[in-house]
Amino acid sequence: MHPADALDRIVYLLDRAQAESQKVKAFARARDVVRELGDAEVARLHAAGKLAEPPGLGPTTAGIVAETLDGGVPEYLTHLEDDTVIEVGEGGDLRAALRGDCHTHSTWSDGGASIETMARAAIGLGHDYMVLTDHSPRLTIAHGLSADRLRAQLDEVDALNERLAPFRILTGIEVDILPDGALDQRPDLLERLDVVVASVHSKLRMDRAEMTRRMVTAVASPHVDILGHCTGRKLAAAERFPGRASSGRRSATAVPADRERAGERPPARFDAEIVFAACAQFDTALEINCRPERQDPPDDLLALAVEWGLRFSIDTDAHAPGQLEWQLYGCDKAARAGIGPDRIVNTRPADDLVAWATTHGA
Ligand SMILES: [Zn+2]
Ligand SMILES: [Zn+2]
Repeated sequence: MHPADALDRIVYLLDRAQAESQKVKAFARARDVVRELGDAEVARLHAAGKLAEPPGLGPTTAGIVAETLDGGVPEYLTHLEDDTVIEVGEGGDLRAALRGDCHTHSTWSDGGASIETMARAAIGLGHDYMVLTDHSPRLTIAHGLSADRLRAQLDEVDALNERLAPFRILTGIEVDILPDGALDQRPDLLERLDVVVASVHSKLRMDRAEMTRRMVTAVASPHVDILGHCTGRKLAAAERFPGRASSGRRSATAVPADRERAGERPPARFDAEIVFAACAQFDTALEINCRPERQDPPDDLLALAVEWGLRFSIDTDAHAPGQLEWQLYGCDKAARAGIGPDRIVNTRPADDLVAWATTHGA
């Protein structure tokens, strides 16, 4: 194993366990430093016992590099492989039926990895496709894409698709639902995209009737295919891995209590009967968002959506390659709600998915 590959795998596994971003960044930086130094220089530093000296390397990462150079698999990595594994649960059959993921981010907006790195991770998980859904312009905090940047991204996706075939990166966006229900991107561009996820990210505390109107307006748009993380809630750290907590996972995900509290957010208030009626009317899919801090929609709303006969999309909303494995969480949730593969849009082959996205609700 190459030392940079060992560090890269550690980054992947830390992301899979949703470790604190500072920690992930430290390992990612060490990986990059090892690559920049080059094999000869890394070997020289190792021989001289000076691996911890270059900026970006420290005692832990230097130890990992040394173990790898000595021909072994670093103990840190071996433990992390075990501690962060996501068990296949009751949603195992659904997971096996999924062909891709309809909600992913890259460094073009607030993701931590390039489109190609995300795509290669998706290939590694057996996916046939990944819908790239970076943020829209007004989400400036997430470096949302202007119309020009989105067009440039479409060119990059074209080039990548030539190299990665038969895997497909489907074009998409996570478009912001503005307070009046309008969408935060030009209609001609939304029209061009394969799949559009629409989500509320701002003014989540607005009045219930206003929020209902806002969401229904977006759901009714012919451009919108999937309603993303519908309540916008964020759970406390203790609730993020239900039924899956192990001592290893807890240590891998330990976050100071004040940050846990800061990350919590109550669900937005809206009339779910009306919003789901609109989803049924326009055949807009409801996202089952797999992020451990979201787990959106909550189980009671998911049960209601099942009663309405809605379609679903089980999406990771991954901002890093390791997070693409979170689909198992959403599959368990869907299985508990009695949702079959025929109601899930991303069990379809890519062409079928795009055909549905183009024609539904018409
Ligand atoms: Zn979002
Ligand atoms: Zn997202």
